[in-house]
Amino acid sequence: MAHKYIDNYREKGARKRLVEVLRKKGIEDERVLEAIGKIPRHYFFDETFWVQAYKDIAFPIGEGQTISQPYTVAYQTELLHIQKGDKVLEIGTGSGYQTCVLMELGAKVYTIERQEKLYDRAKWVLSAKMGYKANFFLGDGSIGIAAHAPYDKIIVTAGAPTVPDVLLKQLKVGGIIVIPVGNEDAQKMVTVLKTGDNDYEKIVLGTFRFVPLVGDRAW
Ligand code: SAM
Repeated sequence: MAHKYIDNYREKGARKRLVEVLRKKGIEDERVLEAIGKIPRHYFFDETFWVQAYKDIAFPIGEGQTISQPYTVAYQTELLHIQKGDKVLEIGTGSGYQTCVLMELGAKVYTIERQEKLYDRAKWVLSAKMGYKANFFLGDGSIGIAAHAPYDKIIVTAGAPTVPDVLLKQLKVGGIIVIPVGNEDAQKMVTVLKTGDNDYEKIVLGTFRFVPLVGDRAW
């Protein structure tokens, strides 16, 4: 079915209400809320499911994967403290929606996805349809992307068994990684601040449920 990419008063109204829901759930960073208020999330859904796009839920995007719940996207983004010009590695492009949020905040994004169909679709929606200039990669992001390291920030959007050392090495000193860590049923959101070449400060936050990070340094 041809996708019309219409963003009218109905979608804009639903988006405004979603922003208020996220604010009530505790998202405080106005820049993150503004980005979510701006991006047409329904563009990442098949038209048949547009009505689902502004509910605060994760939703299937094919290949057994999901577009993350808006609250989760906002929560992870807030933890990254994105500054304009930050070089960000995103592991798990999925739909590309989180990529858009990062770019709206002024980040330069390198995003990697292991599922070819999702990689193709996200690249097409973001580049051809929405005009965002992210750097897309197809492959195993659990080993990072050494060729473009170091990064100011790294975000992992799938659940990992541990924080891969190789990703910590690809962070700049002063950089932050946000990654869900746990078993396949539930993960804790973990942030690690790199304070020196081999020094890290780790904070363990609330519980989430992500699809698994599958790869060489993952499941
Ligand atoms: N933030 C994304 C969004 O809103 O659409 C959600 C992505 S989804 C929860 C997680 C993605 O991570 C899936 O598309 C999955 O295929 C991908 N993934 C899992 N393991 C990966 C790996 N080792 N490298 C790259 N992508 C991976």
